[in-house]
Amino acid sequence: MNGELRCPLCGAGGTWAVQPPTCRDCHVPLTFFPSAARGVERPGAPGHWRYQALFPQAEPLSLGEGNTPLVPSARVGPELALEVVFKWEGANPTGSFKDRGASVLVSVLRELGARKLADDSSGNAGAALAAYAARAGLPARLFVPEGASPKKLAQIRAYGAHLVSVPGPRAAATEAVLAACAHEPQLVYASHNASPYFLAGLSSLAWETWEDLEHVLPDHVVVPVGGGGLLLGLYYGFSALRAWGVISSMPKLHAVQAAACAPIAEAWSAGVDHPVPVDAQPTVAEGIRVARPPRGQEILRALRASGGSALTLTEGEILEAQRELATKEGLYVEPTSATAMAALGKLKQSGAIPEGARVVIPLTGTGLKSG
Ligand SMILES: [Zn+2]
Repeated sequence: MNGELRCPLCGAGGTWAVQPPTCRDCHVPLTFFPSAARGVERPGAPGHWRYQALFPQAEPLSLGEGNTPLVPSARVGPELALEVVFKWEGANPTGSFKDRGASVLVSVLRELGARKLADDSSGNAGAALAAYAARAGLPARLFVPEGASPKKLAQIRAYGAHLVSVPGPRAAATEAVLAACAHEPQLVYASHNASPYFLAGLSSLAWETWEDLEHVLPDHVVVPVGGGGLLLGLYYGFSALRAWGVISSMPKLHAVQAAACAPIAEAWSAGVDHPVPVDAQPTVAEGIRVARPPRGQEILRALRASGGSALTLTEGEILEAQRELATKEGLYVEPTSATAMAALGKLKQSGAIPEGARVVIPLTGTGLKSG
């Protein structure tokens, strides 16, 4: 299968399954670790499938995800005396980086015999899963929290997915999808937060960025964190490059959260290994409003191992960064994506990112479907 499933905390091995496999001892989702030193690139393969060696073995299902533009900062970077480049993930087929994960997840689940898929999502992951399920000819059921963006819901519906609106907090949508999958064994929980196959797809961002930068690593990558898939995908992607001897160091990864919902940043400040239980407040950064990230401990480990940090932002800071990206850079992103940019000045001020550093900011999703 191109690699193996292991517990990211204790290293215990796991078996391939359609439902997200977890560690019996640590009760956390398993992670996919690619085998060492296989053919790294497959020229001519569609989209990010040229990095197929990073993914569990499966027949590629592609809408052309990946190969997103790398856009140098015109104003914000120079103003801060930093070399900033944006990786424009809004250019993916459904408008967000989640397409990287969904393409691999649906490919692998199809290979393992799944016939019906379900997930809980506030929007972007749901849209990505619905699109790739449609492409694969598999029915999809999406459990969405009440109050999700109407434009994202319209997109999910357009792909023919069955939409289930769940009243109450975000966690209620997770409980609803778990209950549905328990009740209906044919229904597979295609979880973007827990499935190792989704996470494996996100690691292509690390490889692509390194290639875009002509094989020079960035010093820092600043990433919005909710479920933590993007940060972990980057971490494991760069880790695989290092394990295979392609690179010798790692960029520092910085996790950004809205102060309204910051279980990781609060744990980081408190110096503890587990996410801090929080009562999520409303935030414009709806895509990272995850009060209990299933991979929380894994995220904190990755932050420490990369030498990075975690920080929070106010609602005003996030909206100001969204405006700045549009007016100073010509990039219209959703508020969740703007958090990384909003964090940049703070990280510079605190000394976490020194003058002249090379910084990559993945802009996770388009602004066209926010609001
Ligand atoms: Zn374990």
